[in-house]
Formats: sequence, C-alpha cells, structure tokens
Amino acid sequence: MKTILTGIRSNSVLTLGNYLGALLPMVRLANEHSKDSNVNIFVPDLHSIISDVDGDLRENTIRTLKYYLAAGLEINENVHIYRQSYVPAHSELCWILDCVATMGETSRMIQFKEKSKGQESCNVGIFNYPILMAADILLYDAEYIPLGEDQFQHIELARNIAIRFNNRFGEIFTVPAKTADQVKFMEVDNAIRIRDLLNPEKKMSKSTLAEGSKIMLDDDPSRAAKKIMSATTDSLGKVKFDMFNQPGISNLLQIEALVTNTPLQDVIATWNGETRYGELKTKVASSVSEMLTVFQSKMAGISDGDVYDLLAAGEKYANDVANKKLLEVQKAFHLR
Ligand code: AMP
Repeated sequence: MKTILTGIRSNSVLTLGNYLGALLPMVRLANEHSKDSNVNIFVPDLHSIISDVDGDLRENTIRTLKYYLAAGLEINENVHIYRQSYVPAHSELCWILDCVATMGETSRMIQFKEKSKGQESCNVGIFNYPILMAADILLYDAEYIPLGEDQFQHIELARNIAIRFNNRFGEIFTVPAKTADQVKFMEVDNAIRIRDLLNPEKKMSKSTLAEGSKIMLDDDPSRAAKKIMSATTDSLGKVKFDMFNQPGISNLLQIEALVTNTPLQDVIATWNGETRYGELKTKVASSVSEMLTVFQSKMAGISDGDVYDLLAAGEKYANDVANKKLLEVQKAFHLR
C-alpha cells in the first residue's frame, strides 16, 4: 500500500489562505486516497521551533488537528495522525541523514537563503530543517507528499538523499515521486494563492501586521465580512478575472469560488463585466462569513479528547513503522 504524507506547522491560528490553499486540498486528497493508501497527517512541531510560536505550541497543535477534522477529514484505519516530537525516530534519523547530505546541497535551499537573509545570527535548525523533513518522509516510505510549491525543492533533496543512501546500502528507502509526478498527484494546474486583501500583489500571510489584510480562521464572521468589504480593488470599473491587472477583484472571485465550492469558471461567468464592485464584495463577504460560521461551529463540536484519542492510535502506529525503518538504517551504519 502506498503512503501519502502531509503536515502543516502550527505556529499560530491559520489564515483563510492556509485553509483554502493548503488544508482543504490536502483533506480532499486524503479522503480520495485513504481507501487504498496510508495517509499520514502529522504536525511538525519540531519544525515549529525554528521560528517564533504565537501562544502555546501544544494547544496550537491540537487546534491544527481540529482544523483538519472540521475541514472534513474522514477517519478510517488507514489515516494516521501524529505529532512529530512524539516519534523520536524523526530526530534520530535526521542526525544520520545529516551525515549523508552535503553542505553544498543543503546550502542551496531557497527557503534557507530567504529565512536567513539579513539575520545577524540564524539558528542551525533553519539550515537543518530540510534534512529533518527528509527524515519525516523517508521513515514512512512516503511516495507522495502534497505540500505547497515552496516545499518542492525540499522534496527533491529528500529524493537525492534517498537515492544516495540506497546506492550505498541497498534499497532501504522508497524514493519519493519526482516533482512533476507530485504535481500530477495533487491534481492542480496552478497552486492556489489567496492574496492579501489590502495589498493584492502579495499573498495573504499571517505575518502581515495590518489586520485588514488577512482573514484568520477564528475571526468573528461579521468582522471577516467587513474586511472583505474594505478589500482593495482597482479603478478599472469592470469585473474581469485577471490576476495581473486586477489582482484584488480576481482574488475575490477566487475566494468566492473556493468558499462556496463552485468551479471558478462559473463564478467568473456570473460576475464578468459587472461594474458595481460593491455587489461582488457583498456576495463574497456573505459567503466568507457563512463559511466561517459553519467552520467555527464544527470546531466547537470537536473536543480535545477526540483529538487525543486519534493521536494515541496514530502515534502508536507511527512509532512502530518509524522504529522499524530506523533500525534498518542503524544496521546499515553498524550502529546496531
Ligand atoms: P505557511 O503559513 O507559509 O507556513 O504555509 C502553510 C501552507 O499554507 C503552505 O502549504 C502554503 O503553501 C499555504 N499557504 C500559505 N499562505 C497561502 C495563501 N495566501 N494562499 C494559498 N496557500 C497559502
């Protein structure tokens, strides 16, 4: 049975962008494949501590897992939910892979360059993050790792490490699928990028300070509606889906399609040529506020106990699988 693995950091409350661009597509894929594949959904809490965490990491982790459930994740015996730090084999394999990966290939990682840029001192975790990620993937023989495009380079690195390791020691790791096949698997032509509401040239990000620029999943629905009503548009005065010339309007059309689960082409057809932007905004504001109301009521219906029950089973499974793989690796290096 093949394994699909995915995760999302839980450093803070997620934005509508995280939800529509990452969480919902992952849940859709998980539900599609969990009948005949292992689906590992984990919270990379060790990755979280390379940067600041808003609030309490343990509580954030439980909340993130509730997000998956509220977004419709169907649980069956093939779906395994766990926290990275509760499976110590991740850190152990990371060290061993540190001795397989090279400084050259790790230094080339764009995320490392971006995250360390301009920082007087940068923690070693930021540099080592992709190796820990390779361990996250290789421990479970995961073939498909649906994540944002910013992670493709790290998946390529995991492939290279697996190939090098296997050449030296025999077929111990499953080599993850190539980027092109990962994209095909995710069934996306273009990654969804929800834009900043005030500055639609940029993507919506939780780190942007202006409150009006982003919608958080715990925003009061009426407050979220107001943010949509105040979103930046343009002075062209005619609705057209054109991310380059009308990014604000196009962003609203995209949000409307995703929150109402309507094909984008249908939403575009409904609004194309409309000259009153206010009407479009009112509709999107109402759709977003309705979606948040339903989502937040689902969140309230999931108890911490529900999540801990899933974690107990998932972490037992994950430790069993990961420790078996780790032992093979330790034997290869004559550590065992
Ligand atoms: P981050 O919050 O940057 O750690 O991203 C977590 C996940 O959410 C990644 O898979 C990103 O690609 C995705 N993501 C973040 N911001 C957006 C956005 N504005 N639109 C769509 N996807 C996003």
